[in-house]
Amino acid sequence: MSVRVRFAPSPTGFLHIGSLRTALYNYLFARHNGGSCILRIEDTDRTRFVEGAIEEQIASLAWAGITFDEGPHVGGNHGPYTQSERFDLYREYGMKLVENGTAYYAFDTSEELDAMRLRQQSAGIAPKYDRSAMRNQYTLGEEETRRLLDEGAAHVIRLKVPLHQDVRFSDIIRGEVIVNGREIDDQILLKSDGFPTYHLANVVDDHLMEITHVIRAEEWLPSTPKHIILYQAFGWEPPTFAHVPLLLNPDRSKMSKRHGDVMVKDFIRKGFFPDALVNFVSLCGWNPGSDNEFYSMQDLVNSFTLERVNKAGAVFDYQKLNWMNGEYLKQRDPQDLARELHPVLVERGFNYVDPTFVAEVIALVRERVTFVADIAEFADYLFGDALVPLSAEAQAMLDGNDKISSALDTFRKGLDASVIADADSFKGLAQRSAESVGLKSGALMKPLRLVLTHREVGADLFRTVQLLGLERCLSRLDAFTSHS
Ligand code: GLU
Repeated sequence: MSVRVRFAPSPTGFLHIGSLRTALYNYLFARHNGGSCILRIEDTDRTRFVEGAIEEQIASLAWAGITFDEGPHVGGNHGPYTQSERFDLYREYGMKLVENGTAYYAFDTSEELDAMRLRQQSAGIAPKYDRSAMRNQYTLGEEETRRLLDEGAAHVIRLKVPLHQDVRFSDIIRGEVIVNGREIDDQILLKSDGFPTYHLANVVDDHLMEITHVIRAEEWLPSTPKHIILYQAFGWEPPTFAHVPLLLNPDRSKMSKRHGDVMVKDFIRKGFFPDALVNFVSLCGWNPGSDNEFYSMQDLVNSFTLERVNKAGAVFDYQKLNWMNGEYLKQRDPQDLARELHPVLVERGFNYVDPTFVAEVIALVRERVTFVADIAEFADYLFGDALVPLSAEAQAMLDGNDKISSALDTFRKGLDASVIADADSFKGLAQRSAESVGLKSGALMKPLRLVLTHREVGADLFRTVQLLGLERCLSRLDAFTSHS
């Protein structure tokens, strides 16, 4: 049987980084096994629906390069199936369970349910539907139940959990899981408005869509015994389960906004490369079994197996992600990066934005930044004529030193096209200028950088001078000399 998996987000918010990882693992597992990966929108809970969430989630998945195989086309990507378009189906299946005695009618009001919970709380027992004490098909009897239904009394359909039976399933990541029926709630399957709950719709769809493997977040592990009971109630074979560990903050608490970005759209806005984020996220909880940390999507498809997903939660290390993005930046073609950077430079009003020039600047400085857009700030002195103000410290160092001033003057006089054309001539001139006033040969490098760029750090000074060009170097040296 060929592998079929699904990613089944609820449109209750934007795509979380943890959900991106779940989607990715589904995608990789499907591709690795030559199977299919489908997208299913689980929008049964209409009260938590967030406008625009579906579109954003689909766009973020497409950005990351995660594609789906079935359903109508959306933005060049396949998918999704949408549960709200299938409500009649879930109702029909829910009623089948009532007919075969594995689900039942319950008529309790919310006040009655609250009172039940309070009683349980004060008795120190875990809250759970009390089938033998509440108003349902069993306590009311068939006749009264029929009468209430005919009268149109509000009711739900609940799952009849077999109480004295262990529920077992084998999870690829967590191993054997056994839960006793007494610990499982008689889950509502159809709500009083006739809408299905997540549990019913999820199981019906996984069966009808012939899903072979359910790969989802660990937070759904407690729901799985209910799902197993549902499969049994329908007489269906359950799929294989794999519950993926949580993503954690560096302090090992559950990953949350307080520690940094958690929404994929925020990572996109910051300027992460999709392949860097995918590479990083793939390693949060999956062990590739090698020291190599760099994996393209195709490498991941080739090597991904669920057996190598860890049981323990995975710490999301923001610093490492930044580092990885920087590593991807170094591998990128400067011409492509120049295209990405161009709008940023234009927006900042820079006037040296010729694509070939921009690509040369990128090739020079990209080792020192994390994001492409950082280059606009890091090398502003190359793209524009307005320099940031010198720091007070730098100003004092330049102003209060006659030797440096006079060495800079000598340098200025010797600077011409031939010096700019050759690294040795440039170094030679800087050395001679320093030595002429009794300074050490390298003493002029820092002042030169300050005068030419107004920054204390930057990339190789000779290449910087070359990219600035003779005219701009001369006018910046002149501006300094006339000022001092
Ligand atoms: N709709 C659920 C969610 O939002 C899907 C859980 C599952 O994959 O079964 O995560």
